[in-house]
Order: sequence, then C-alpha cells, then structure tokens
Amino acid sequence: MMSDSSQRIRMRVAGVLAGVTALAAATAACGSGSADSVGAADGRTEVTAALYPLEWLAERVGGSDVTVTALTEPGVEPHDLELTPAQVAGLEQTSLVAYIKGVQPAVDEAVEQHAADRGFDAATAVATIAAEEAHEGEEHAGEGHEDEGHEDEGHEEEHAHDVSYDPHIWLDPSRFAAVATALGERLAAADPARAAGYRERAAKTAADLTALDGELAEGLAGCSARSIVTSHEAFGYLADRYKLTQVGISVDPEAEPSPARLAEVAEVAKREKVTTIFTETLVSPKVAEVLAQEIGATTAVLDPIESRPEQGDYLSAMRRNLTTLQAALRCT
Ligand SMILES: [Zn+2]
Repeated sequence: MMSDSSQRIRMRVAGVLAGVTALAAATAACGSGSADSVGAADGRTEVTAALYPLEWLAERVGGSDVTVTALTEPGVEPHDLELTPAQVAGLEQTSLVAYIKGVQPAVDEAVEQHAADRGFDAATAVATIAAEEAHEGEEHAGEGHEDEGHEDEGHEEEHAHDVSYDPHIWLDPSRFAAVATALGERLAAADPARAAGYRERAAKTAADLTALDGELAEGLAGCSARSIVTSHEAFGYLADRYKLTQVGISVDPEAEPSPARLAEVAEVAKREKVTTIFTETLVSPKVAEVLAQEIGATTAVLDPIESRPEQGDYLSAMRRNLTTLQAALRCT
C-alpha cells in the first residue's frame, strides 16, 4: 500500500511526534490520560499485514483503532516478495505483524529477526492441510532472482522456511473466520484499552465469513463436475472445504510445468470431463490456454486473492469465484 518514501516520511513524522510527546510529558503538570497503546503517533495501534487477505482482515477487525500497513503492493504476486530496508525497519516499530508462515519466505525471516514477539502467524489459528509436492520436472521460470535460498527448481532445494502445510488458508472462509477471532484476541492483548472494540469487530467479521462459507457450501453442493484444474495450487482449502478436487498445473505460480506434467493434467481433465481450465489474475494464462485448447475446454479466471482485487474486496472476490465455479462445474 505505502510507498517507500511515504513510509519513510511517516516514520520520520512518527519520530518527531514521539519527541514532542516526550517533551509534553516532561513539562506537563498533570497527565493527559493518553492511551496506553504502543505504535502509531496518533494513538492508533500500528498493524503490519504481509499480504492482502490479512490486510483486509486487519482493517475489518482493527477498525479505526488501527493503522494498517501492507507489505505487498496491489498487483504484486506475494510469494516472491522481497522487503525494502524501510519495510524491515518498519517491523521494528509496528505493534503487530499479521502474516502466514510459508507464503512469503522473506517475511517469515524478517518477522523472526525483527518482530519475533509481535508476529501473528495466522496459520496457527487453523487446522492446516498438507502441502502439495512439487511436480516432477517443474522448472522455475522467474528470471533474475538473486535471493539465494528461495525455493527453486521444483522445490528440490531445502529452504529454511519451507512449511509442510499448504499456506493458502484464506480461501476457506470458515478457517478464515477462525483467523478473524484469533486476530481480535491478539489485538486485544496488544492494546487492552480497546479490547472490547477488537472483539466486537472480530465477531462481526467472523459472522460475515461464516455467512460466506454457507453461500459457498450451498452454491457448490449440487455440481455435476467436482474437479478444478488451476494454474497454481492455491485452492486446496477451498477444495477441502467444499469437497472439490484440485488438479494444479504447477505448485509455484512462476514455475513452468514440464511437458510430462501437462500431459498428465490433460489426461485427468479429459477423464473428468473438465470444460474449464482456471487461470488467475497475476499469473500468465499462456500454459492454461494451451491446455484448454488441447482438450477443447475454455478458460475462466479464479482469483486466489493473493493481492487486492481490482474491484471490491475479499468478500466480493470470493462471491465472484463462487459464480465462476458454478458455471464451470455445472452446478444447479
Ligand atoms: Zn499462492
């Protein structure tokens, strides 16, 4: 959300205001009864959100009691995010960092080093499902990656921050509701003076997510097809929750699938009478289009909501996904 320069300016302003506050406290005859929250100079609690779904959640649960700084800019695929020095410095100041261990290795490492006591790992709030293995021969297509250690070449390289579970937990609204509740508790602990507000908004957000979960469950109950072929395997939780089968062309959004994997997916798609191959907003649809052509299917966009949707928010993007799935899976 915030550009480097505006973040720097904001930090400088925060520093100046902190000085003014200290001066005022030293000279004032009586206390002002200021809020005991740490973080933002305007008295609001500073929350840093690693990627869009958590940014949305932090804004909902935090309301006007927080300022939310996002680490991933809109339109940026979050997995390979690298943090700027200003963003890393910001982690030293913030009251809470909401992240999901396993989505962004750079964030996992920065939280460990700079905000270990203020990290909220949303994955700890839910029952996770096992990660998909990289498909044999999957090749990383990303160029100019200098971050040594990032999982590459079909995940053959062992990465210190690899996790054994699928980290895309937000694509199951029932699990995401549990994250909302947990985030409300963490904010209440970080800023006890306003605990009631955090808990109230967390409950409201969890209720909205539970309602969305009900819509998806109902909307996907009577579909004649249940296999979804996706560009990258982000939809494991959605599949798990609504009893669909995900067939991912690749695990890594930037990986190029091997010819063998493509042939394998084509075979499954034909067998399952798949008529739609799903592409996603931030990943090139080229491979999916070739596959669709080969099996006589069409393509449609299914949004993994890894970044802020161009229109609407998390809730409306999930409802668009429902409509897309209903058309593709021939649901009644
Ligand atoms: Zn992903």
